[in-house]
Parts: sequence; C-alpha cells; structure tokens
Amino acid sequence: MGLLAQEQMLERLLLVDDDACNIRMMQAGLDGNGYEFLIATNGADTLRLANEQQPALILLDIMMPDLDGFEVLRRLRAHSRTREIPVIFVTGCLLQADEARGLELGAADYIRKPLSFPILRARVSHQLELVRQRRVLRSLSTLDGLTGIANRRRFDEYLNEQWTYAIRTAQAISLIMCDIDFFKHYNDYYGHLEGDECLKAVAGFLQARLTRQTDLVARWGGEEFCCLMPATGENGATGVAEALRHGVLKLAIPHAQSELTERVTASFGVATIVPRPKTEAVMLIEAADAALYRSKALGRNRVTAYSDLAADPPCAPVAE
Ligand code: GH3
Ligand code: MG
Ligand code: MG
Repeated sequence: MGLLAQEQMLERLLLVDDDACNIRMMQAGLDGNGYEFLIATNGADTLRLANEQQPALILLDIMMPDLDGFEVLRRLRAHSRTREIPVIFVTGCLLQADEARGLELGAADYIRKPLSFPILRARVSHQLELVRQRRVLRSLSTLDGLTGIANRRRFDEYLNEQWTYAIRTAQAISLIMCDIDFFKHYNDYYGHLEGDECLKAVAGFLQARLTRQTDLVARWGGEEFCCLMPATGENGATGVAEALRHGVLKLAIPHAQSELTERVTASFGVATIVPRPKTEAVMLIEAADAALYRSKALGRNRVTAYSDLAADPPCAPVAE
C-alpha cells in the first residue's frame, strides 16, 4: 500500500447534515478512499464529536434546526481543541453572500449542493493534504530531532498552558529537571555518536516511564531533560523523580569515566508550586533548576526537592 493510501486510511471525517439523505450522498461520494466517517445530524452533536474524536476534517451543513452551520463554526473556532480542525461547508445556500460569510468565519472551503462527486472528492483531498502538511510542520517544530521527544519550544508552550490552568483550578503543578552526570566525560571517551545513543536511550526511558496523559517529557537542552506533571503534588513528583533516577541507573549504560559508578547516572531537581494569579511559570523552572544544582553539589545521582533547599542537606549518599 502506498504512503498516501495508508495515510488516507487513517483520516477521520465528520459529516454533518440534518438530513440523513445528504449524509448518505456525501458518504457515497467519498467511499472507497478509506476514510472513517463520523456522523452528526445537529450542531450540539457536531461540537461534542469534534471535541472528543478530533476528526481531520468536518463537512458541515449550514441550515440546521438547532444551531446553524455558521454558529457551529464560530463555536468550533472558539475552543482550543477544535480551533484547527478545517471545516468545509456543504450547503444548499447558493448566495455569494453566504459563501463570503462562511469563508470570513474561517471555513476552509465552500461546496454547493447538489453535490458533484468529483468536486467533493477533490476538495476533501486538498484539505486533507493541507492537514498532513500541517502535521509534519507541527512535529518538526515541536519535537527534538535527535530523541523524538518534545523539544524546548513545545515544553514552553505546554508549561504556559498548564500554568494558566493550574491558576484557574488552584492545583499544584510539578516539574522535574534531570541532567546526566559526567556526560562530557562520556562523550570524550565513547565519542559523540555514542553520546547521542545514550541521550536517545535516556529520553526513551523517561518518556516511557511517565504514563499520565497530561505529563510531558521534553529535551530541555544538551543532556538535560524535564518532566512537567500537572495536578501533581510534591510527594508524588519526588516519588516519580526517585523512580526515574533508579530507572536510569537500571538502564545499565556503561560509563567507564563516571566518577560515581561505572554506569550512566542522572541528577534530579523537583519543584512543586500551586501558582497564584499574576505569577510567572519561570518560577517553577528556576526552583527545579536550583534543586537540580543542589543534587549536583551533593554528589550527583540523587533527587532534591526545592522545599529541601532551606533545610539541612542530607549527607548520606543515596543507597541503591
Ligand atoms: P555534570 O555531571 O556536572 O552534569 O557534568 P556534565 O559533564 O554532564 O556537564 P557539562 O554541562 O559540563 O557537559 C555536558 C555535555 O553534554 C557537554 C556536551 O558535549 C554534551 N552534549 C550536549 N548536547 C549533546 C548532544 O546533542 N549529543 C552529545 N553526544 N553530547 C551532547
Ligand atoms: Mg548539563
Ligand atoms: Mg550533565
């Protein structure tokens, strides 16, 4: 199967019309392209399905008894989860003024009834091609090229979203900063390519270990990673960091030049804040960074929580 066919097979289209005959017509016109169809016959179901099922494209009628198509489009565009789903109006409204209004509201295209199957197929295919291009651009701009996990840009974006959400809900938000120990020695001894492999292994492990849907693991830079954990308090976050520390050690990646053990280890800093209005997310980063710095200063391969910084530093090395 060609790449295009494979991709099309995965595309989910939401077909909306209050008249079941029209839905069957659209389906008949698009069948055979491997699309998956979701069906709605009113505005409320359209908004719910778009939000829950995240279709690649919506084909939307204008004249419907509850919400008309213009209003549905306006509401789709008012919500972050549905804002970017392209909408093609498929309508019996033939006036240019309606088409202009639809396009001005942000519709991607406007198709008049009665349907011409070739025109429907071509316009749907054009929009899906744009959807695919946007996905590629998005992954290029949000993923780290070496490790495939989120990059710093994506992390910043997500942190700001979650910070705002945490202010609204008065919930704790935690950040773990992680930095590989003696990684310069690793590169010097094993070479840069092996260094890259080590970064991939650690990134893959962190990503796999953080399983909550709202957690985000990102490459912060060089050999530093960060894990953002919304709705997570200090005990939870410190427990996760400890499991991560142990897990990195258990990867058992040889590190002959480590001054600690003969395996790759990492140091961790944990910060937890219940953010208040008018506070900045950078506070969380600074706190996690300060805690990480303390882990380094205390001998590496350990976890420090920011709240520990004021207390006496623990002096015993971390037992395995
Ligand atoms: P510490 O235990 O104090 O963290 O010491 P360190 O040697 O890990 O820290 P330092 O910041 O001195 O060195 C980080 C090294 O990470 C230096 C750089 O060569 C390496 N590094 C950064 N980015 C990459 C990368 O993309 N690939 C590889 N292979 N190495 C990288
Ligand atoms: Mg570093
Ligand atoms: Mg380091």
